[in-house]
Amino acid sequence: QNFEELGLEPRLIRALSKKSIEKPTPIQSVAIPLILEGKDVVARAKTGSGKTLAYLLPLLQKLIADSPSKNSLAPSTIILVPTRELCQQVYSEVTSLIELCRVQLKVVQLTSTMSASDMKTALAGPPDIIVSTPACVQTCLSKGMLQSKSLQESLSTLVLDEADLLLSYGYEDDIKALSAHVPKRCQCLLMSATSSADVEKLKKLILHNPYILTL
Ligand code: AMP
Repeated sequence: QNFEELGLEPRLIRALSKKSIEKPTPIQSVAIPLILEGKDVVARAKTGSGKTLAYLLPLLQKLIADSPSKNSLAPSTIILVPTRELCQQVYSEVTSLIELCRVQLKVVQLTSTMSASDMKTALAGPPDIIVSTPACVQTCLSKGMLQSKSLQESLSTLVLDEADLLLSYGYEDDIKALSAHVPKRCQCLLMSATSSADVEKLKKLILHNPYILTL
């Protein structure tokens, strides 16, 4: 199978070619078509399996398709990660794809080391995609830098990357608090290396009838 058969558009396929990525990994083959269809997905996927592109590619395709009609006051995509390092890694991967595709999408990362004024600047605009830890997004919401009402209107995709680590790093309460601001129609994607009882809890809290992928 190739990326075209998975339903990805030529712009993204050309961007992947420039990174010498020609063939989807198993998780990408299964996850990309489902995510493009708008399904909630839970994927058992480890670092190295290609899990990041498995959610980033369909997510970018959706954003590219939506961008001409975009007129929102808050981000439409939030990617939650457990650490600053992963935040940086995902941010670089999205930014490089966006540059290679030459599309006008704004991505920001929010981390605990940023000052309130840097966070405000990052959120001005607003960005299309936020990559952050649950605690930082929660801080922005509680300080009014992100408006719950705008988020409920604009949020169309939420990703929980390395969900097992999100929980073991103690972000459960932040994720619970955040889930109150996630609209029902929002597509939710959960990536996790393991499927513990805690991950099951998170699944029930955030996802609606998800497809469960174990590869
Ligand atoms: P991840 O599992 O998301 O941490 O990705 C691990 C590495 O694999 C990253 O450096 C990706 O750029 C790379 N990668 C992702 N998908 C593919 C693919 N289909 N073919 C070759 N490399 C890939």
